[in-house]
Amino acid sequence: PKYVYDFTEGNKDLKDLLGGKGANLAEMTNLGLPVPPGFTITTEACRHYLGDGGMPDGLGEEISAHLAELEAQMGKRLGDPGDPLLVSVRSGAKFSMPGMMETVLNIGLNDSSVLALAKQSGNERFAWDSYRRLIQMFGKTVLGIDGEFFETAIDELKDGRKDTDLDAADLQRLVETYKDIIRSETGRDFPCDPREQMELAIRAVFDSWNAPRAVLYRRQERIPGDLGTAVNVCSMVFGNLGMDSGTGVAFTRDPGSGQQGVYGDYLQNAQGEDVVAGIRNTVPLQELEKIDSEAYRELLDIMARLEGHYRDLCDIEFTIERGKLWMLQTRVGKRTAAAAFCIATQLVDEGLIGMDEAVKRVTGDQLAQLMFPRFAEATDNRRLTKGMNASPGAAVGKAVFTSEKAVELAGRGEAVILVRRETNPDDLAGMIAARGVLTSRGGKTSHAAVVARGMGKTCVCGAEELEVDVRAGRFTAPGGVTVEEGDVISIDGSSGAVYLGEVPVVASPVVEYFEGRPADEELVRSVDRIMTHADSVRRLAVRANADTPEDAARARRFGAQGVGLCRTEHMFLGDRRQLVEDLILAATPKECQAALDALEPLQTADFTGLFEAMEGLPVTIRLIDPPLHEFLPDITELSVKVALAGDEATDRDRRLLEAVKRLHEQNPMLGLRGVRLGLVIPGLFEMQVRAIAKAARASEARQSAGAKAEIMIPLVGAVQELEIVREAAEGILAEAGVSALIGTMIEVPRAALTAGQVAEAAEFFSFGTNDLTQMTWGFSRDDVESGFFGKYLDLGVFGVSPFESLDRDGVGRLMRIAAEEGRRTRPGLKLGICGEHGGDPDSVHFCHEIGLDYVSCSPFRIPVARLEAARAAL
Ligand code: PEP
Ligand code: MG
Repeated sequence: PKYVYDFTEGNKDLKDLLGGKGANLAEMTNLGLPVPPGFTITTEACRHYLGDGGMPDGLGEEISAHLAELEAQMGKRLGDPGDPLLVSVRSGAKFSMPGMMETVLNIGLNDSSVLALAKQSGNERFAWDSYRRLIQMFGKTVLGIDGEFFETAIDELKDGRKDTDLDAADLQRLVETYKDIIRSETGRDFPCDPREQMELAIRAVFDSWNAPRAVLYRRQERIPGDLGTAVNVCSMVFGNLGMDSGTGVAFTRDPGSGQQGVYGDYLQNAQGEDVVAGIRNTVPLQELEKIDSEAYRELLDIMARLEGHYRDLCDIEFTIERGKLWMLQTRVGKRTAAAAFCIATQLVDEGLIGMDEAVKRVTGDQLAQLMFPRFAEATDNRRLTKGMNASPGAAVGKAVFTSEKAVELAGRGEAVILVRRETNPDDLAGMIAARGVLTSRGGKTSHAAVVARGMGKTCVCGAEELEVDVRAGRFTAPGGVTVEEGDVISIDGSSGAVYLGEVPVVASPVVEYFEGRPADEELVRSVDRIMTHADSVRRLAVRANADTPEDAARARRFGAQGVGLCRTEHMFLGDRRQLVEDLILAATPKECQAALDALEPLQTADFTGLFEAMEGLPVTIRLIDPPLHEFLPDITELSVKVALAGDEATDRDRRLLEAVKRLHEQNPMLGLRGVRLGLVIPGLFEMQVRAIAKAARASEARQSAGAKAEIMIPLVGAVQELEIVREAAEGILAEAGVSALIGTMIEVPRAALTAGQVAEAAEFFSFGTNDLTQMTWGFSRDDVESGFFGKYLDLGVFGVSPFESLDRDGVGRLMRIAAEEGRRTRPGLKLGICGEHGGDPDSVHFCHEIGLDYVSCSPFRIPVARLEAARAAL
């Protein structure tokens, strides 16, 4: 295979092979934009290298050939002692992983070429600064030396002075110190052969794919671990040649709101990493107009071209070298959830994309984020300061100052806000653990801001009035207010405000819109347009898991087209528990009947409420499911109570204890539940079916829409179970003159594997993927997620809990079999899902793929499911 592509050979659609950065550099090169020449080593070479630890055969020759071409084009040779070409070696994976992997700049410098660089640039200081940066980056990333060594050395040299106060002689001395560090830490000299520098840097970039922070980031972002990274070798341009040079980052629109305009940061006399790291404070991009109006205008032109070309918001990195503009990177930019919706409809209005594409440009996860609450407007909590609104949301928690502390407290279930001067990739674990991130340095493109936005985590950055003292574990706000570790603060990622104490939060405008408020702001209008279009293109219907009329009514406002699961056991809790106890304690058929008679009118009223709330839409009522012991007192407590009471113990308590002992099971989730319960306790299911029939009649009498009942039998493993219940139910329905579908849940693997038979007795299947996942994997759904799943995720057994996102290969395979074989028996068989997965984006796509008719999920996930069902259909 071909492992190396010149920038002129690639294009933006080759991200799998060239990584995002490489593909887009190629695209820009071919658009004729000013990109410093270079080439990209493919992800395939990386996979080969990481797979068996060796560079692929022929890669070295290919690199040499491309390097020779680059040298010819630039009229210089890499590291030439007379006139050196310098290159950067940068990572670039398919999915952007900001700051997670390595970069080495200024490759090609050594003791002789540094002198040539000084002469060429007429700037000795610059040359020695570039050289010391190379040794520092190389030492840290390629040779694995602790960065502290270099930082301490430079701090000692500065001795209180600023970076810019160091002159050429200082930096030359620093180079010697750095070389000593390398010698003493690795036992070898800094390699002065330019080609060797390049070779080692390429390996280091490959290796950085598996750096712990990169692994953690991928897990968080659900990026597959086996993609590998590409490596971009690019001729260096310098933003640190003087005040007529500089570097910056920009967005073609505001990544926070979607507004068009000029958004970005610029830093004079600096190299790229300085901006992203938030080391010095940048100026707003608008100021470039005053600094260098020609470069500014060219930049705006290029940004407009890029947006038109990509038909989306782009972010870019650029450098100005002595007045000449160079494009170093572009990509379709990350944005907040709100901006994603606004931009999608703006682009429709600008004629760049159609509504189908607009629906594809937003995600269910983004919609879910917009449904988070935000802070109440007026608050008498003390506002400490205002920083930049880097990533929206409202976060409240205890201030912590280190990543470790954040992880520790969050592990104990506490809400924390990670407070730092600036973050770097080592803070990732703390950022994941925290509810929000607050920094005192850095702009909207700083590491903290970019990573937080990507995670959908609330972030306020660049709150410069705060004096953050990480070592002492406190920060000081204007007016001398001091916040210590553990003090509660509230941060508003939408406004940038930081408050002392806990600020009350209010509902999101998107939720209010779903609740029926008119769409009167841009975001809500965008959501409305996108959801309306989504509803017109999706094939899957969306239903709600709802047990009460209130839940059902809310679900309808959110767009539910029916109830897919009413868990009737939820109706047996609270005051009614006593009645269930009576049923369990019943010693004679007469007592049993009396207990059922007491429950029936209550159930009838429950169902009537649901039918009326749904006004003729289908309502799937599941007959009672959970293990009976859940309704009975705890066996230990009751034993103690009876033992203590001795002869005084009541007759009821004694009988109860007997029943509890009789019904005690080692594995209740595999025990007497679902259809088994219905077959064992005479009259229980019949009572429920009678209540459904009566409720249906009552609603028909009261409202014209009537009721559309679907009776669902849980935990069926064999068609025989279903047949027995079905026969009894049909008798009751016929007697009442009510028609209802009768179907089953598919929760037991055996039901899926014998679906062809089960479908003989079922008019519909609803996949209960909570139990189906539990029984397919043999994982207890109540225990594992707080137990060994953390380890399993670390070990990569799966990338996400199978209870959260459907395991397509295992559980999904059973579903596919059941769907196909069920429909072979009964072509019109209605298919749905009502496990938690019904509201998970990836699982919704799977349900679409295997031809289900609907997904059912909790009311708050319904908009997400509607949107994802549409995206699956497009
Ligand atoms: C399921 O098992 O997926 C289901 C919906 O039923 P429950 O969660 O009530 O067991
Ligand atoms: Mg279940």
